[in-house]
Parts: sequence; C-alpha cells; structure tokens
Amino acid sequence: MYHIAIDLDNTLLDTSKACITQFNKLTGIDLFPTDENYYRYYEFYGWNEEMYEVAYKQMGNEIHWESDPYPYAVEVVKHLFQRYQLTILTARPDLFYDVTLKWLQLHDIPFHDIMFEREKFRICESHNIDLLIDDAPHYAEEFSSKGRKFMIMDQPYNRNINHDLIHRVNEWKDVIGIIAECHGTRV
Ligand SMILES: [Mg+2]
Repeated sequence: MYHIAIDLDNTLLDTSKACITQFNKLTGIDLFPTDENYYRYYEFYGWNEEMYEVAYKQMGNEIHWESDPYPYAVEVVKHLFQRYQLTILTARPDLFYDVTLKWLQLHDIPFHDIMFEREKFRICESHNIDLLIDDAPHYAEEFSSKGRKFMIMDQPYNRNINHDLIHRVNEWKDVIGIIAECHGTRV
C-alpha cells in the first residue's frame, strides 16, 4: 500500500504562531513577525539557536497543546487514512511524546504509526515510505537531491526551494489531488 508520512510542525499545524504566543508570554516582548523572517523568528527575541532550544524545551508542552491544525488538515488526513498507510513523522524531541499523542487525540487525527525522528530520509528509506509531506527546506533539498519525491507545505521560508521532484502544496485541501498525481492513480 502507498505509504505517506506527514510532518507535524508548520505542516499539519501552525507551530510558529503557537511558539510566538508562548514566547511573548515568557519574554514580555510583543512579537508579530513578518512572513519573510518567520523561520528564525526567535532572533527577534534576541536569541540564538541554543537559547531558542532552551525556551522551546521550557514552553514546549504549552506550545504543542495550544496550537491549531491548519484549515482542512484534519479532514484530509482522515481521508488519507482510509486509503493509504499513514505515518506521523516528527522531529520533535521524545520529551513531547505525551502532549503530541494527546493533541492528536483531541483533534481526532488518525494515523497508523508515529515516529519521533530527525533523520527523516533514513526513516523513509527503511520504512518504505513513498512520500513525505513536510515544510522544512533541508529535508526537501535532501530528498530531491537523492532522487525521492517530496511534498513541500508552502511556507514563506521555503519558497526558494524548487525541483522537479518537489511538489508544492499551498493548502491542505489540495493535498489529495497532488498525492494522486504523485503516484499516478485516482483517489
Ligand atoms: Mg515541520
């Protein structure tokens, strides 16, 4: 069966918005970042990546609990679950396993398997995953350079990533049609 993996943060749900809400509370800074700078918005708090990691680990439970799926995401995932093997593939630290599972349950998001892994290319190879849906530029570049199809969830910070093997999706309601194109069958 065709096997699809779906990322969580900034793919299935708006994590940047949830982070900014929590980090504003933590710092007292009232940040509303512009699109162009969305990926490294933590620099607006005067943080480097290490400081961001500390704040993320501190606030992660609130961030991941109080975040919302993108429009149509839940409906589309339910549709895919009926037709395909579906794995949630997230690079979140294991620390957030419980809150992640509870959040998925809260929003009634079905899946066959879930993995917390940063090395997504290796996981897709070893688990026979046909297609990853993810927003991260570095995964898109890695997958396409190694000859694998990739579905990139459009974000301001990944718009410069283009390749024949990268299928860009702007909205969740377009995902079903693009998957059908990817593996050449009607759904
Ligand atoms: Mg992501």
